[in-house]
Amino acid sequence: MAKQYEVVVIGSGPAGYVAAIRCAQLGLKTACIEKWLNKKNQTVYGGTCLNVGCIPSKALLDSSHKYLEAQQHLDVHGIKVTKVAMDVALMIARKDKIVGQLTQGIKGLFSANKVDGIGGTARIVAANKVLVTDAEGAEQELTADKIIIAAGSVPTDIPPTPVDGDTIVDSTGALEFQETPKRLGVIGAGIIGLELGSVWARLGSEVTVLEALDEFLPAVDRQLAKEALKMLTRQGLNIKLGARVTGSKLGKGARKTVAVEFTTADGEQKAQFDKLIVAVGRRPYTDALIDDAVGIELDDHGFIKVDDQCVTNIANIYAVGDVVRGPMLAHKGMEEGVMVAERLLDKKTQVNYALVPSVIYTHPEIAWVGKNEEELKAENVEYNVGSFPFAINGRALAANDSEGMVKLLADASTDRILGCHIIGPSAADLLQQLVIAMEFSASAEDIGLTMFSHPALSEAVHEAALAVNGHAIHIGNRRKRK
Ligand code: FAD
Ligand code: NAD
Repeated sequence: MAKQYEVVVIGSGPAGYVAAIRCAQLGLKTACIEKWLNKKNQTVYGGTCLNVGCIPSKALLDSSHKYLEAQQHLDVHGIKVTKVAMDVALMIARKDKIVGQLTQGIKGLFSANKVDGIGGTARIVAANKVLVTDAEGAEQELTADKIIIAAGSVPTDIPPTPVDGDTIVDSTGALEFQETPKRLGVIGAGIIGLELGSVWARLGSEVTVLEALDEFLPAVDRQLAKEALKMLTRQGLNIKLGARVTGSKLGKGARKTVAVEFTTADGEQKAQFDKLIVAVGRRPYTDALIDDAVGIELDDHGFIKVDDQCVTNIANIYAVGDVVRGPMLAHKGMEEGVMVAERLLDKKTQVNYALVPSVIYTHPEIAWVGKNEEELKAENVEYNVGSFPFAINGRALAANDSEGMVKLLADASTDRILGCHIIGPSAADLLQQLVIAMEFSASAEDIGLTMFSHPALSEAVHEAALAVNGHAIHIGNRRKRK
């Protein structure tokens, strides 16, 4: 007989596991189905984020940053380091250990919250029926009052550079290199390309990034994107904009290289790489997930169609995270998971899609929330700009980490903060102060009147807020736009 649940969640990435835990906390009998298997063929929870996304990439970013610090930036502190060497295999093993610790943690959270974690591939066969097939091929049917789809996303392929998992890899393969490639090609100067390109450049790869668009980081405030391009180029990333990849050819032998053909404004070009990372975006993962008879609608890009509360066109089926519209970010999926769980019990929880923070974890980090200047201009909004450079922030100088700036945009008539854009040390954490402030509809003056600890990086946020209204104490810049 089919096992009965009030809620069945498909997928245990950040959107799915958070939804499942919140449902169970609210007293709903909940199962979460996950198909991901580790190398030992055991079910692992946590999805892309924990296994091959946010966490492992940050582990490598942190290791490679420490290596570069030890190699190049400790001497100014008077620390003499005579020999710095990198053991890439050990760095990868440390990353795997962190992944193991966190994915095991989800298992623990499921058991503490009484979520039934079920290993297997789920298929929705009717509006309240899910068929689960485990790794051995055994099937079981679950019935559910409500179904939450959180099946996530997978990397996009492009025909000229088919991934072979060895020389040509996607982001998952790029987290597994056992040695530093001498020449590394990256297709796509998006978030993954820049983060993983940075990791391997810090460890000594000659990195070439081929980006199809003429514009660098089009979603980022232009002033910050320009700064970022300069800084990353100084760090050794050779970023070629307007580069259209047309073909590739794998070499022969055990250690294959790859020849990549591309065109730029200068005409046809060729480059030879030891490894090539394809990082051209991700697509929603709905393969074999829903029987046609169920009638769930997808949009033109394959995302499951949902409304602002993540309800699909079938009233008892919801979808959250990367499999639906909006930015493909773990925290966005988590908040959607909480919203859906709480709305099942008639709470009025909402996600504020206007304030989803974004971060690129290069060094320095690039972080933003709300509107940028280009968007405000397009909307004909009058705004003031306050900015402050880390170059005159005491704490940043003390840490020898003073590149970048904080930039705040505020409505010219109400002073309400409309956007915050930071490139600099700990930008992600600094930005969060503004996300909270903006959730409370703060004005730049509110931030200006708040006391900030000294010395702290966050004083740059304080000074940028003071600069909006022309009274930064330590030379902030103010600009009015009418
Ligand atoms: P996923 O995490 O993709 O999880 C979906 C789960 O569903 C998977 O475990 C999958 O196996 C399972 N599943 C799918 N179909 C079925 C089925 N039929 N039956 C059973 N199970 C199924 N985002 C950030 O916010 N910050 C970052 O720093 C960040 N870094 C990233 C770095 C990299 C290299 C990558 C690739 C992504 C990164 N992301 C980051 C994006 C982030 O990982 C995703 O936005 C997030 O994981 C989406 O969560 P999700 O729960 O919607 O889907
Ligand atoms: P992306 O959309 O950020 O960047 C892809 C880039 O590839 C774009 O600049 C695009 O113009 C370029 N591109 C596309 N086709 C191309 C082609 N044929 N040749 C050359 N360039 C091409 O996607 P991504 O970097 O793959 O990341 C996928 C998702 O994962 C993103 O949506 C992101 O939100 C998420 N992610 C987030 C973080 C983070 O929050 N720090 C980190 C990694 C990934």
